[in-house]
Parts: sequence; C-alpha cells; structure tokens
Amino acid sequence: MATIRFKALEASMSRVPRIVKAPSTKISEYYGVNVFDKKVMAEYMSKDIYKQVMQTIEDGKTIDRKITNSVASAMKAWAMEKQVTHYTHRFQPLTGTTAEKHDAFFEPINDNDVIERFDGSQLAQQEPDASRLPNGGIRNTFEARGYTAWDPSSPAFIIGNTMCIPTIYISYTGEALDYKTPLLKALNSVDQAAVDVCGYFDKNVNKVSATLGWEQEYFLVDKALFAARPDLVMTGRTVFGHSPAKGQELDDHYFGSIPDRAHAYMVELEIECMKLGIPLKTRHNEVAPNQYEFAPIFEEANLAVDHNQLLMDIMDKIARKHNLRVLLHEKPFATVNGSGKHNNWSLSTNTGINLLSPGKTPKSNMQFLTFLINTIKAVHDNERLLRASMATAGNEHRLGANEAPPAIISVFIGRELTNMLNELVSKVNDNKPLTAEEKTELKLNIGKIPEILLDNTDRNRTSPFAFTGNKFEFRAIGSSANCSAAMVVINSIVAKQLIQFKKDVDAQIKKGIKKDEAILRILKKYTISSKAIRFEGNGYGDEWIVEAEKRGLSHLKTTPLAIAEMGSKQTLDLYDSLGVMTNRETIARREIAYDLYTNLIRIESRIVGDIAQNHILPTALRYQNHLIKNVQGLKDILDAKEFKDASSVQLDMIKDISAHIKTIKETVGEMINERKRINMLESPKEKALQYCDIVKPMFDTIRYSVDKLELMVDDEIWPLPKYRELLFNH
Ligand code: ADP
Ligand code: MG
Repeated sequence: MATIRFKALEASMSRVPRIVKAPSTKISEYYGVNVFDKKVMAEYMSKDIYKQVMQTIEDGKTIDRKITNSVASAMKAWAMEKQVTHYTHRFQPLTGTTAEKHDAFFEPINDNDVIERFDGSQLAQQEPDASRLPNGGIRNTFEARGYTAWDPSSPAFIIGNTMCIPTIYISYTGEALDYKTPLLKALNSVDQAAVDVCGYFDKNVNKVSATLGWEQEYFLVDKALFAARPDLVMTGRTVFGHSPAKGQELDDHYFGSIPDRAHAYMVELEIECMKLGIPLKTRHNEVAPNQYEFAPIFEEANLAVDHNQLLMDIMDKIARKHNLRVLLHEKPFATVNGSGKHNNWSLSTNTGINLLSPGKTPKSNMQFLTFLINTIKAVHDNERLLRASMATAGNEHRLGANEAPPAIISVFIGRELTNMLNELVSKVNDNKPLTAEEKTELKLNIGKIPEILLDNTDRNRTSPFAFTGNKFEFRAIGSSANCSAAMVVINSIVAKQLIQFKKDVDAQIKKGIKKDEAILRILKKYTISSKAIRFEGNGYGDEWIVEAEKRGLSHLKTTPLAIAEMGSKQTLDLYDSLGVMTNRETIARREIAYDLYTNLIRIESRIVGDIAQNHILPTALRYQNHLIKNVQGLKDILDAKEFKDASSVQLDMIKDISAHIKTIKETVGEMINERKRINMLESPKEKALQYCDIVKPMFDTIRYSVDKLELMVDDEIWPLPKYRELLFNH
C-alpha cells in the first residue's frame, strides 16, 4: 500500500473505537426521551387540548388554529427544560434529502429586551424562501414562497439544541412540493377504501393504517480514505477501481461478527435512535465486505418514513465522529453487491387486525384473501408506475444492470397460496351459486390458510414484491430513497383497487347475489385477470426476461424510461381520482425526476473526466516516463542483442500505457462534447434519455482503461485508495 494512503489510514485506525455508554442498561428508561410524544403531551397539555390534538391525529386532519397556541406553549415548555434554544420545521423536498431552517426562540419586545417566544403561528407554519428547491415549474421565481405546515401525526423531537417539527411543504398556490403531502393523502385514501371493504367482514373497523418496516442497507468506509476519493466525496460512489483479489465470494462477511469500529458506531447510533423513538431492532453484516443493515420494528407508514429520513441523517453525523463515512448510494462499488431498502408493507385496523395476515376464522381469512388478491391485482394493473417509483440514477446500477432484482415487477406468493388461488378459480362458478357442500369445502380450505402458511412461508429472494407470510416486501427500492416515493404508489394503487372491488361486489349484490358469493366471484375474476404478474421462479434468470415479455409485462431497463410512467395518462388519472395529486403536481414530479437524473449523471460525468485527466493521466505518464528512462538506461549499458532482450517487456508496457492514455483522453474529450450538445436540448426528457444512452456508457470505456492502468502503475504513486483498502479495513 502506498505510504501516503497507508499513513492516512493508520491515523484513523490507531484511534481506539469510542464506545459510548448508554444512559441506562434498560432501553425502556431512555426510549423516546427526546420526543414530544403522547405521554409528554398528556403531561404538558390540559386534558381538553390533549383530547383535541389526539382527535386531529386520528382523523388525519390539520390542526385547528384555535388550539395551536396551547400546543406551542406546551412544546416550548418541554423543549426549554431540555436546553433547547431553536426550532425548525423539517420537511422533505423533492431533492430526496431533508431540509430545515433554524429559528431561535427569542423575540425582541422593545429596544433592549428579548423574550423567549414560540407561539401557535410559528408552530403551524413557516415560510422558508426555498426558491432553490425543485418545483418542476410549479413556482415562478418571483413567487418563490413555499410554506411548511405542521404534520401533527408525526411528533416533534429534539436534536442537539433544536426542536424539529415534521412538516409538509407546499407552494404559495397550495401545490405539494414535497414527499410528505401526497403520502398523507394516499394514506388517507387507502384508509377510507379499506374501511369500506372491511365493512363486508367486520363493522367495528373504522380506521385502517398502512404499516411500513424498512430495512436500511449501507456501507461504512474509513473517513480518511473516503476523503482521498473525489468520486466518493462528490457522488457517493466510486467511478473507478479495479476489483480486489477477494470480493464477497467467500461469504465470510455476511452475518459475521461485527468489526469493533463498526460496532462502536452502531452502539452510539442506536442510543441516539432510541432517544428519538426510532425502534431500531436489528443490526447485522450484509453480503458485501463493509456492508451492513439496520431494521426497526414496523410503524405507521408516515411515521416510519420520517424515522427513516431521520435515521439516514443521524447515520451520517455519527459515522463522522467515529472516523467513518456512511455510503447510502445504491452502488458504491462495482463488482460487489449494492444496497437496497426493502419496504415491508401491510395494512392494519383499529381493531388490531393485520389485513395481510391470515386469521383464525374462515371469515377473517376471506378478508385476508380479499386484501391479498386486491393487492396483487393493483400491482398487476400498475406495475409500470411501481417500477417508476424506484427509478433513480443510483438504483439504475442495481435494477437489471449488474445485479438483480430485475427491472421487471412481479409478485411472489409461494406455492401454498398459489394452490389456494387455483382452487378459488376452479371451484367458484360465475353463473351458479356454490352448493352447500361446495361452500363448506371451500370455506374449510380457506380456514386452513394459517396452518399451511405457518410451515410454508416460502422465501424467494429474487422477487421484487414478495408476500412474506403477513406482509408484502418491496425489495427493489434503493438504499438512499425516500420511502414515500414507493409508499405513495403502493397505497394509492391499492386504494383505487379496493374502491373498484367495492363497486364490483356491490353490483353483484344488487343483482341479488349473496354477499359471500359475490365476493368470491369478484376475487376469482381478479385472480384470473392478474395472473400474469404472479411469478414463483428465479427472478434473476434470463428465462424470466423472455417469459415476462411473453406475458406482456413491462421491462423498463433505464431510469429515464421508467420516469416517463410517472406522468402517463393512467398515473394522472389515478392520483387525480383519489385526490392524491392534481395533474399539475404529478407532471411537476416527473419533470423534477428527469432533471435530477440529468444533474446526477452530469456530475458523475464531470468527476469521471476530472479524475481521469487530473489524477490518472499524470500518474500514468509519470510511470511511463519512469519506464522510458529505464529503457534508455538499458540501452546505454547493454549491447544491441542484450538490449532487445532486456527491454521488450518495458516497451510493451510503454505501448500499453500509451494505448490506455489515448482511449481515456479521447473518450473524455468526446464525452465533454456530448455533454455540451445535450445541455443545449430543451426537453428535460430528451436530456435525461441522452445522458443515459450516450454519456453514461462512456464511463465504462474510460473506466476500463483506468482500471487497467491501476494494475500496471506502481502502487506507490497511485493516487486513489484502492478497493481492497476501502472495503477490507474495519
Ligand atoms: P425477515 O423478513 O428478515 O424474516 P421479519 O419478518 O421479522 O424479518 O421483518 C422484516 C421487517 O418487516 C421488519 O422491519 C419488520 O418490522 C417488518 N414487518 C413485520 N411485520 C410487518 C407489518 N405487518 N407491516 C409492515 N412491516 C412489517
Ligand atoms: Mg427482509
């Protein structure tokens, strides 16, 4: 290892891992201490106000202006006891990160005096001039005002000396400019639609919440080595780097013991998360070296999304304290696994029932089958939009590229449930009611679902959307994503499907068909019409691509192709009919996605060009000169025949290096020209497509030569930390 790189690493490695002591060995004693949760609210608010706030949260409405003052003063009192001096509205703009603007609690009252102030209007609304945040053409710069408004369903919390208030973010004209606004609307839609359908089975259900349990994968790398890689610093991924002698083939990292430095980091992170009420439960090593995963206990979806955004923030902050850096990029390193964020999703009722968990009685299992089949049908009818929901520049490296899951959406339910659906299709007759015996038999079999599933929760790790016993696991989502993108889609499409189901069943009932029979007939119909989306085989195999095409499933290989679906007629109608987003809002989102993609690839392209020309070429030339000197020296001291023998290898190396230098120089030049040309194009879509199809492939050509040079050039002078250094130092 080159001396300079070694010294950098040695410095950070020599520090003893800093193990932070938890406030108590009992997590219960400090869980949620920094959260303005229900318990704290009850303590700091009058009974009446508390009741009103709870009611607002229940109803999913915005808070009544009349009570915000009382809530604000309770928040202020609580926060000031905890040495808090500032507050901020925290929102999730379409950049994918979390944004905040801190304001102090103080306010001048006359020339010299100030008082601590935080009142209802400050709690309810802030007005960040966030004209640089993406808006997709919704906001003109002359009307740059955006508003943030408190989301009472996600509790305020404290970080450092700042109280953070989760908010939505909308334009002056009321359009959503963030991830949270449509999410809350989609959750509301699925709530109403699911409650209506539950009415067939259980009249006590009056609220259905979507639940989300994410699993966050990430890499840890040494801070000093990270800093020496401009590509990691600027793009979060390595654009160059030859694969190391050893990758992940020995599987010796997966579920192995967690290295000390990483462990010390996780301990501190978990303490912070517990204080913030993020129920982190699991941590383990992942497949690739230096890759790890955190998973919490699932929560109501809106809260789970906020917690994931918060976690990603804190992960970064705490890693730096441990001389580590967190990589949340989907593919930081070629040749080893990338990182995803599985979204486990289900629906649960106010009566404590998980609607995707088989129940104890035939009736509750009918309800389970209803939600299962409607979800499958929703995915079938909207697979293109689901694909679009996870389409980003980073995730493009995972989906269908060097690594599965594929860019084809399919649903896995396992053999037992497949048999159950087949039975439903064969037994139920569209024209004549089931006889008493047939009904008993079918009910008996439906009643057996829980037992069957108990022993047979098949796992298919290659499915992008898999049923895992009591929830669906959406696996294709990228590690850096805001979960809302996928959660808006899944909850909206299921809401729409459930509304349709209710209509279809009611139409049958109107014709005089009994309720149970009507439900069975519609479920049969959906099972047949959505069959194409169900796939139990190997989703990573080439045969699946052929088979999926035969079935008429889409295969949107690149991000720009998938983004187009965000604004299709079907998508526009979906969001409009549910009131999740207006057409204008939906289209704006698509435009932002194109722009974001273009910007990210453009930045990568600049970094590729910069490192290649300013770091790699000079190094290669230096080494080549070294070889040339060697050859000249040999010529001076050897006779012609001896010289020919002794210099042939060096001469070949010199020629090889020249060839690579030429490729790099020419391709970088060509890439810059293409960039200039594409930047002049008008259409965001066209730009994104061309960055994808023309600029991005050039990275590979340049990389091939750079990585070859890495193997040839003297290690001592190679400027970039190598894969073996980044991946195997703990
Ligand atoms: P695994 O999939 O590794 O076997 P689990 O089944 O325990 O592990 O759950 C994985 C993730 O799924 C966890 O984050 C968990 O909180 C989440 N999960 C479990 N049940 C639900 C549910 N009903 N809704 C949403 N997420 C859930
Ligand atoms: Mg899982």
